[in-house]
Amino acid sequence: MGSGLFVNAKVFTGTGEEDFATAFRIDDGIVTWVGDAADVTGGTDLGGATVLPGLLDVHSHPSMLASLAGAVSCLPPEVYSLTSLLDRLRTHPDLGRGQDRWIEGFGFDESGYPEGRKPTRHDLDSVSTTQPVFVRRCDSHSMVCNTRALQLAGITRDTPDPEGGRIGRDAAGEPDGLLVERAAYDRLLALRPPPGPDEEVARLAGLDAHFLERGIVAVADLMATLTTPDPLRLFRDAERAGLRPQAALYPMWQDLVAAGLPDLTDDDRTGRVKIAGVKLVMDGAYSDRTAWTDEAYPGSCDHGLQTASADDLRAAVAWARRNGVQVAVHAMGDRALWYVVDGLGDEQAWLAERASVRLVRGPLFSPELLDRVAAATMEFGVATHSVFFFAEYGSYARNLSPEQFAVAYPIRSFYERVPASALSSDTPATAWSDADDVFLSVRAAVLREAHDGADFNRAEAVSVAQALLLYTGRARLLAPFEGVGLIQPGFEGSFVVLDRDVFTIPPREIDRVRVQETWLRGAQVFRR
Ligand SMILES: [Zn+2]
Repeated sequence: MGSGLFVNAKVFTGTGEEDFATAFRIDDGIVTWVGDAADVTGGTDLGGATVLPGLLDVHSHPSMLASLAGAVSCLPPEVYSLTSLLDRLRTHPDLGRGQDRWIEGFGFDESGYPEGRKPTRHDLDSVSTTQPVFVRRCDSHSMVCNTRALQLAGITRDTPDPEGGRIGRDAAGEPDGLLVERAAYDRLLALRPPPGPDEEVARLAGLDAHFLERGIVAVADLMATLTTPDPLRLFRDAERAGLRPQAALYPMWQDLVAAGLPDLTDDDRTGRVKIAGVKLVMDGAYSDRTAWTDEAYPGSCDHGLQTASADDLRAAVAWARRNGVQVAVHAMGDRALWYVVDGLGDEQAWLAERASVRLVRGPLFSPELLDRVAAATMEFGVATHSVFFFAEYGSYARNLSPEQFAVAYPIRSFYERVPASALSSDTPATAWSDADDVFLSVRAAVLREAHDGADFNRAEAVSVAQALLLYTGRARLLAPFEGVGLIQPGFEGSFVVLDRDVFTIPPREIDRVRVQETWLRGAQVFRR
C-alpha cells in the first residue's frame, strides 16, 4: 500500500458525467482528498494525463481464461473462415506429439465465415484422425469435436440427446461433431487429463498482468465452478501466488446443487476474493439459435432451449437470499427474460447496496420489459456488453427480426433507467480476441458500430463519460467489490493513467487508448 499526492491530471472521479478534479491524495492506500491542484503544493506531476478510477469488469470468466492456457485462440480478427480455423488448429503445439494429447481451440464464430457454416467432425478429422480435437464456439455454449473425440466419449447415433443439451446429427442421423450446452459436452471434457492443482493456481495467478495492463482492478467470474468445485480456494491460492485484482465469484447453480447447497460463512463472502452469488443459466444464445424466445427463429418452428426450471429459479433465489449474496441469471431470449422478471419482479430485494438479481447481457430488451424492470420491487441490475454486436453483427442481423434488432443491446436505455447497470467483457466467451480491452468496448458503445462499420441502432449510443461510468461508478452497484469504482475519499487509491484524453479524441480513435499506468491501493502495479 502506498501514499502520495498526485497533481496536474484530468481526473474523472466516476461519481457523475461531469465530475472531474485535477489532484488527489492517497494515504496508506486510501483516497483522503480529491480537489483542485491549485489548492496544494508539491506532489507527483502527472503531466496533464487523463486519470480514471481502476476499471471493473463485472462479467468475465477468469477461470475459463486460465483453463484455456492450453488451447489455441480461434477468434477473429485472426480467424475469419473455416479454412483459417483449421489452419489455426494445426498450429497447436501438441499436434503430432502422441495420441493421448488433446488438440483444443476456442472461439470459432461461423457467422462471419465465407463458408457460411460451422465446422463438422469431418473438417476436424482433417486436423487429426488419431488425436482428439475439439473447438469451442465463441459463446462457449457449444463445441465441435472430431471423430476420435466422439469415439472416446462413446457418442454414437444411438446416444439420445441429454436433457438441456443437444447432439448435432447429419442427414443420416450420425453425430456430426456438434455438442450443444454443457449437458452434451461435459462428458467429453471430463476425459481430458486435468491440470495438477499447482498448475491451475499458477495459470490463474498468471492472469495478474493480463488484467492490470488493461487497467482492470476488480473482476467477476460468472462461471466460477467451471474447472473446480471449490473456486474460493482456487482464487485465494492464486491471490497468494500473485493475483492482485479483486475477484467476485459466482458458482454455477447446478454445481452448488451437486455440492449439497452448502451455506456460506462470513469469511466466504467477505474480503478481496469472495463468493458473490450464484449463476443460473435459463437458456442458450441467439447467435446459436438456442436463446429461449417467444417467436420461433426465422424459417423454423424452433424457440430455442430452456435450460433451468421455475423450481431452479425459486431455489436459487432462496439460497442467495438466505446467504446474503446475488443471483446472476443468464437469460438471453425474450421469453427467458420475461420469465425471470415476471417471476421475481414483485418480490422484495434482499441486498441493500446493490442489485439482488443480476441479468446477464440483455441482448433483447423491449421498452415494455424495461418498464417492468424499472417498476419492480425487486432490485434488478444488468451487465451488458458492446463487444457482442461489434463482433457478431452478422449473426444478429440474420437471426433477429427488424423489431428485435431495434431493441438489441439498448445501452443508453439501461444507463438511463437501471441504476445498477454496467458494461463488461464476458471474456473469453465472446467472438473477439481481446474482448476485455475496455476501450474497444467503449468505442463500440459510443459509436454503435460493428467491426465492419455496420450501423447498430445509433439511438442507443452513450457518451464517452457514460460508457466509462458503466465501467466504474455505476458498475460498482452490480458486483460486491470493496472500495473501488470511484476516486473519492474513503475509496481505495486504485486508478489508471491513460496515454491520451479519451474524452476529447475522435471517437473512432478510442480503441487506440492505452493504459499507461495502473495503481492499486496507492502503489504502481503496472507501467507500459
Ligand atoms: Zn459469460
